[in-house]
Amino acid sequence: MSCVFCRIIAGRSGSEVLYQDEKITAFRDIRPQAPIHILIVPNEHVSTARELLDKDSSVLITMFSEAHALAEAAGIAGKGYRLVINTGPDAGQMVDHLHLHLLGGKPIQPDGMALRWKDRMT
Ligand code: 5GP
Ligand code: ZN
Repeated sequence: MSCVFCRIIAGRSGSEVLYQDEKITAFRDIRPQAPIHILIVPNEHVSTARELLDKDSSVLITMFSEAHALAEAAGIAGKGYRLVINTGPDAGQMVDHLHLHLLGGKPIQPDGMALRWKDRMT
């Protein structure tokens, strides 16, 4: 099994699983970018949300629903959090298994939507 997230889903990595059901699994990011940084993934290996929409779009709803439940459980739902899906090389997708990042636990900068592009935008 070459995919690191498939190994975590199968319980073969030693990573602590925070939530798992028949459709999805959630676990902490190994290199957290925020005090709370959790990844929510479909149990079936798909690369993108587009692929999952074609197979079973209900899994996407479950992923977002569980992200909110995990934010509630972590005590950050009230103050706010960010959900991110990087898709493809231009977006910096490093792991080829769809994953929803849940990030929170401290305030972001007011220009929080500003992204650092490799080159000037224009
Ligand atoms: P991407 O850049 O693809 O959106 O994010 C991939 C994320 O997966 C990164 O934040 C990275 O830290 C995380 N990651 C990579 N390998 C592992 C691993 O083996 N275990 C865990 N828990 N997270 C990982
Ligand atoms: Zn996988």
